[in-house]
Amino acid sequence: MKPWLSLFLGFKVGAAALAFLHHPYAALVVFFAPDPWIVMQFVLPNHQAFGPAATRFETSGREVWLTIDDGPDPASTPRVLELLRKHGAKATFFVVGEQVERHPELARLIAAEGHTIGNHTHSHPAWSLWAAGRARTAAEIDRCVAALLLADVPFERFFRPPVGVRNPLLAAELEARAMLLVLWSARGLEGGGRAPESAMRRIAPQIRPGAIVLSHESGSRPEQRLEFLTLLLEHLSREGYRCVLPERPELRTR
Ligand SMILES: [Zn+2]
Repeated sequence: MKPWLSLFLGFKVGAAALAFLHHPYAALVVFFAPDPWIVMQFVLPNHQAFGPAATRFETSGREVWLTIDDGPDPASTPRVLELLRKHGAKATFFVVGEQVERHPELARLIAAEGHTIGNHTHSHPAWSLWAAGRARTAAEIDRCVAALLLADVPFERFFRPPVGVRNPLLAAELEARAMLLVLWSARGLEGGGRAPESAMRRIAPQIRPGAIVLSHESGSRPEQRLEFLTLLLEHLSREGYRCVLPERPELRTR
């Protein structure tokens, strides 16, 4: 049994013992005490009891890894590629399998321009992957891989779950496929609807050499997401950062 699970169950058993000994308030406190910690394992990049996740990379230069989630999409991808070209930036696109099935030519275009592609699940189950069983977790990974193979697009063995929410079974599925979970160290929350300027103010202090920078395209507000990406690339250029594609051995989990 995983150490975190033993500890979690230990609290629950301890609470039952306290209730049995007629200490109801203490039982309540002990019962719920580990729950905030468990929630953090699902949602926060630096909490990795469920398995390792890359959140930065080693570099001696002024370099960041720009990642762009949720495409490809005709409403945004061509313009994102144009922006990257303008800034001489390289990025990794974490693509959604269903979107690749609809627009395989855009996935090929991303790769043809020298960017790399990672797996962002097949159907982008942002609110349900956390509770998915083994079969569904595996299907979300494998069906995205199948879409990329069918589109004849080269891809990296990188996986990023929607909104970064993991489940306790994910790490074993990724390990079985020699895939690495990639999260981030800098995000502006523009993917969740924060206005571009406000998202830019939020992300700016998080940007440092070796940062994994999260951004988005597509979605219900592609214009807003593009505006944020425009501001972000201008900021990075102004601050002297290069957007590079780190090698896997350079990636770090903390
Ligand atoms: Zn996403």
